[in-house]
Amino acid sequence: MTSNTSTDPADSKTPAPLQDALARPLHDLRVSLLDQCNFRCPYCMPEAEFHADYEFLRREQRLHYDEILKVVRVATQLGVCKIRLTGGEPLLDKNITTLIAGISELPGVEDLALTTNGMLLGPMAHGLAEAGLHRITISLDSTDRDVFEHMSGGRGDLDTVLAGIDAAERAGLSPIKINAVVQRGVNDHSVMDLLDHFRGSGHIVRLIEFMDVGNRNGWRMDQVVPSRQLLERVKKRWPLRRADRNYPGEVARRYEYVDGQGEIGFISSVTEPFCGGCSRARLSADGVLYTCLFGTQGTDLRESLRHDVHDDELKDILSRIWLQRADRYSELRSPQLAEAHVQRKVEMYRIGG
Ligand code: SAM
Ligand code: SF4
Ligand code: SF4
Repeated sequence: MTSNTSTDPADSKTPAPLQDALARPLHDLRVSLLDQCNFRCPYCMPEAEFHADYEFLRREQRLHYDEILKVVRVATQLGVCKIRLTGGEPLLDKNITTLIAGISELPGVEDLALTTNGMLLGPMAHGLAEAGLHRITISLDSTDRDVFEHMSGGRGDLDTVLAGIDAAERAGLSPIKINAVVQRGVNDHSVMDLLDHFRGSGHIVRLIEFMDVGNRNGWRMDQVVPSRQLLERVKKRWPLRRADRNYPGEVARRYEYVDGQGEIGFISSVTEPFCGGCSRARLSADGVLYTCLFGTQGTDLRESLRHDVHDDELKDILSRIWLQRADRYSELRSPQLAEAHVQRKVEMYRIGG
């Protein structure tokens, strides 16, 4: 008996989706727009290291918008459908709406999001949404004024950030995600107040384990509060029920308040790593592509871009990088691996979260 339906993948007209060495597709691209920031969060850019004389990238060292657009356009041809703009602080880039408009018009971009500390968001929120931004994540580690002051390196103003969140809501950038890095002895005592503040608001608070990204934040395992411990604490106060993943590879474990007051998430990169579903690549502001948050080396695309690389050639470069990818730092995390990576990891402020 003959059939018209062939099961041989070679007969298919659609190219096989690009997969890395561990069979993970490429779906997400995080683009860091600049390495500068108006905060000095001690876990990311400690003031002692990032002082007045620190040399950030100069304008000409950073990718231009047409170069970023080219990378995004080609990446979408390889399966990328989600783009996140980050930094440093991306809203320090005053022309960002031009870039957002350009990216949002590219075919294949289904989701365009931005991560910000929220300090400059208030006056910008409406313009970001109008330009085509779909979603926003605001990093806010505590609603306790003293804790917030400390965790922003003395540079943030809590009321301004909260006003920024309200402005984002009015601009229609909902549901808004609020990311909080939890550090033992620093803000873990204020987590319940943070949750209480946003319960019933429609915003989703996500509690993130403090990670050993970069080399300058003095990370220690005893500063990590395992999500499991936090979950138990939260459940004692507000019963929670597990919610399904929104999509395969979602990093946050979702829970709903049983009393209907919304949703929270846990991102447990240290104690429950999720490398198996990691479909993210990261582009630094100076055009280096990294395939892992804990990468020690990336691939410089800026030279090729400045030499007007053809789309097909760039596609080959990106494909080759992804095909070879075997990163799974968090799953393998050990003192030996940390030792091997010491002083060589890329910093968070260069590639965003
Ligand atoms: N400046 C923007 C902000 O803070 O939202 C965007 C860039 S920031 C590097 C992106 C995210 O990385 C933030 O949510 C921040 O809390 C998170 N982050 C930075 N260092 C971290 C660390 N050591 N562990 C966990 N998350 C970290
Ligand atoms: Fe700046 Fe964000 Fe890093 Fe804080 S976490 S120093 S706001 S880049
Ligand atoms: Fe992805 Fe690397 Fe994080 Fe694993 S450690 S989830 S591969 S970024």
